[in-house]
Amino acid sequence: MSVRKVFADALERAANGRELSREDLQVLLGADEQESTSLFELADEVRSRFVGEEVHLRGLIEFSNYCTGNCLYCGLRKNNRSLVRYRMSPEEIMESARRAADLGCRTIVLQSGEDRYYTAEDLAELISRMKGELDVAITISIGDRTRTEYELLKEAGADRYLLKFETSDPRLFSALRPGTTLEERLKRIAWLKELGYQVGSGNIVGLPGQSLEILVGDILLLRRLGVEMAGIGPFIPADGTPLERFPPGDLEQVLMTLALVRLVLPRAHLPATTATATLDSQGRLRALKCGANVIMPNMTPQSYRENYRIYPGKLGIGEMPEESYAKAVKMVESAGRRVSRDYGHGYRVREALKTGSGIS
Ligand code: SAH
Ligand code: SF4
Repeated sequence: MSVRKVFADALERAANGRELSREDLQVLLGADEQESTSLFELADEVRSRFVGEEVHLRGLIEFSNYCTGNCLYCGLRKNNRSLVRYRMSPEEIMESARRAADLGCRTIVLQSGEDRYYTAEDLAELISRMKGELDVAITISIGDRTRTEYELLKEAGADRYLLKFETSDPRLFSALRPGTTLEERLKRIAWLKELGYQVGSGNIVGLPGQSLEILVGDILLLRRLGVEMAGIGPFIPADGTPLERFPPGDLEQVLMTLALVRLVLPRAHLPATTATATLDSQGRLRALKCGANVIMPNMTPQSYRENYRIYPGKLGIGEMPEESYAKAVKMVESAGRRVSRDYGHGYRVREALKTGSGIS
C-alpha cells in the first residue's frame, strides 16, 4: 500500500471515531504538508462538534519563580543563577486575580516553580479567599507536592490541577528532571484524580532525545490518563540551562500533535500554548484552527513577568494584563470564534451539571 493510502486509511478511521492504534498515530504524525492540512481540518471539525466554538480564557498568574527543581530544559531551574527571583505576596496575587476576573476571566491559573516557601496552608487560605470573593474556577500548577497537600488545596476550593508529565519515556524523564521519576509523576496524577480534581497534563514537543515513537507514546499516555486538559507546546531552548544550544521544537510537529490529541480526546480542553506563540507569531492562531479551544492570557504584573523566564522571548513580556487579555480576545475573534463566559469546566463536571448529579 502507498504511504498516502496508509495515511488516508488512518485518517478515515479517526473521522469515523474509531480508536487510533499506535501505528495509526505514527503514520498520522509523519504527515507531509498536504496530508497535515486534512489532519488539521479533521481536528478542527472534531473540536467544533465536541467542545463548540467558544474559547476559554484562563488568566495565568505566575506568582513565584523560585524553584528547587533542576529540570534541564527550564530557565527557572535552581542552578540558573542569572535569574532575578521574585515572590508575589498573597495580597498581590489577590489583586492580580481581581483584575483578571474584572477583565472577564472565569478561571484563574496559579502557577509557580517548586517553591515550598508557600505552605499548603498558606495556599489553601489564598484559594478559599479567592473563591469567596471572586466568581472564578481555580487551577493550580505548582508541581510536586504530597497527597495531603493536594487534598488541602482541593478542600479549600481548587477545581483543577495542571501537572504535565512532559515526556512518556521513563529514561528521558529522569535524565531531564534529575532526581525524579515518571512513575512518581504519574502517581501524583492518579492522586489528583482520586481527590476529585479536573486534571490536566501534557508534554513538550521536540525535547532533545525525543523520538517519533516517544511522541506517539505521549499521545497514547494522554489518552490512557483520560485527562480533561492537555498542554502541548514546543521545546524552546532556554539561556542558562544545559540545553541552551539545542534546536527548538518544530511548529508543524506541535500542531500535528495537538490535532492528534484532539482526535484521541475529543472533549478535552486544549490550550493554544504561549510556547507555541513564542515559536511563531501565527502559532496560537494556527493552534486554534487545529484543535485548541483555550488561551491563557498572562495576568502576572508587568514588573514580575520578565523574570518568569521559563524560556526566552516569551510572548507578552512588556505587556500589562489588560493588553494581554485584549490580544487574546482579538485572536479569538480573528479565528471566527467567541470568548466563553462560563467556567469552562472539564467534561466530567459539565456532564454531571447537565444531569444534575450535584458536582459543582
Ligand atoms: N513547576 C511546575 C509548573 C511550572 S513549569 C511544574 O514543573 O510542573 C510550567 C511548564 O513549563 C512545564 O510543565 C513545562 O512543560 C514548561 N517548560 C519548562 N521549560 C520549558 C522549555 N524550555 N520549553 C518549553 N516548555 C517549557
Ligand atoms: Fe522548576 Fe517546573 Fe521549571 Fe522544573 S519545569 S525547573 S519544576 S519550574
